[in-house]
Amino acid sequence: MGARELISIDEARERVLAEVESLGSEDVELAASLERVLAAPAVAEEDLPPFDASAMDGFAVPDGEAGTLRIEGESRAGAPAASALAAGTACRISTGAVVPEGTHAVVPVEATEEGDGQVAVPESKAGANIRRAGEDVHAGETVIAAGTAIGAAELAVLASLGVATVACGKRPRLAMLATGDELVEPDAALAPGQIRNSNAYGVAAQARQAGAEVVERSRVPDDAGATRAALADALDAADVVCVSGGVSVGPHDHVKPALSELGVEERFWGVRLRPGKPTWFGTRGDTLAFGLPGNPVSAMVTFHLFARPAIRALQGADPGLGAAHARLAEPLRRNPKRDQMVRVKLEQGEDGWLARPTKAQGSHVLTSMLGAGALARVPQGEGDVATGERIDIELL
Ligand code: AMP
Ligand code: MG
Repeated sequence: MGARELISIDEARERVLAEVESLGSEDVELAASLERVLAAPAVAEEDLPPFDASAMDGFAVPDGEAGTLRIEGESRAGAPAASALAAGTACRISTGAVVPEGTHAVVPVEATEEGDGQVAVPESKAGANIRRAGEDVHAGETVIAAGTAIGAAELAVLASLGVATVACGKRPRLAMLATGDELVEPDAALAPGQIRNSNAYGVAAQARQAGAEVVERSRVPDDAGATRAALADALDAADVVCVSGGVSVGPHDHVKPALSELGVEERFWGVRLRPGKPTWFGTRGDTLAFGLPGNPVSAMVTFHLFARPAIRALQGADPGLGAAHARLAEPLRRNPKRDQMVRVKLEQGEDGWLARPTKAQGSHVLTSMLGAGALARVPQGEGDVATGERIDIELL
C-alpha cells in the first residue's frame, strides 16, 4: 500500500453510501416485522383511542354535583351500555369501557358508596377520568416515519393502528467469504499454523444484526482460482459480498485481482484508520463488495464503519451511525497518521459517559471487542488525548 493516498473514514463512508439504492419493499406479517425497517409511513386511519373511554373502574355520572344517583346499566370493556345516561342515574363502568352519551365525568369506585341500587358520589370535574377519542393519535396523522427500525414499541403501535401486514424494506442478501489457508472451522482441532475462522462468524453475525440475510458463509483457500470461483458465485448470489483477508499486497493475497477480473470496480482501497487500513470497496452494478482486512478486530470494526451503514441504507433506513460523545476515562495516545477506533466500555460519569478502553488494542486482540459499547474515535495527531477530554464515539 506504500505511498498510496489513504482516504478518511468519513470519505470512505460517503463513497459507500453514494453507491447505495434502497432495495424496495415487501409485505411482512406484523409479528415478523420486528427489527425490519418500515418502508412507508404508518398513517392512522382511525383515532386512538377510538372512542371516549373510562380511565377507571367506577360510575359514569351525568353532572358534577355531589349526591345520590340511581344505578342504571353497565358499560364494560367491549360491551357498551345500551343507552345514554339519564338525569339522576349513574352507569357502572369499567376501565376501557365506552363512556355513555350524556356523561359528565367518571367517578372512581373508591370515592363512592353503594347500597340499595343507589350510589353516593362526590363532586366531580367535567371530563374527569375520561380518555378522549384521539387523545393519543388523530385519524390521518403520520405516527411512524418511513425508514424507522421496527422495535417492540413500533410493533405495538402498528398493531393498535390495525396494520396486520407491514411494508418493510427488503433485506439485502449477504455473502461472507473468509480467505486464508490457515483457517479451520470452530469444531476443528488446530494443526500447526492453523487458527479458527472467527471472521466468518463475527461478520455474519454483525450482518444479521444489521438486517441482512446471510445467504452464504464460506472459507476460501489462498488460491487465485478458488478465490475467483468463490467470489463469482457470491457476486451472483448476494447484494453485498464481504470477503475477509487477502486484501493486502502479499504474494498470497488474491482478492483484489479476482474482484477486478470479475468486473467489480474499485471505489477505494485504504483508509486512514486503525485498525482497518487495507479496507477495499468496489461495486458491480448494484452489488457492493467489501474487502475487509483479515485481522479479526479490523474485520469487525470496518464492517461496522462501512458495511453496516450500507446494509441499513439498502433497507431504506437511516445509515445509523450511532454518533455520540463521551469523556475519556484514561489518556489515549494519538497515532500520527491515522484515526484510531478504540474499543471502549462506557461507564456512567458525573457528567455523562466515560469511555475506557476494554483492554489492549491490537487488531488481533479479538477479545478487545468483548464488552465494548462503542468505538471511540481518537483523531490522528501527536501526543495524547487527555483524561476528561471529550471525544466522538460510535455506539456499537
Ligand atoms: P490477511 O489480511 O489475510 O493478511 O490476514 C491478516 C491476519 O488476520 C492474519 O493473521 C490472519 O491469520 C488473520 N485472519 C485472516 N482471516 C481470518 C479469519 N477468517 N478469522 C480469524 N483470523 C483471520
Ligand atoms: Mg490471509
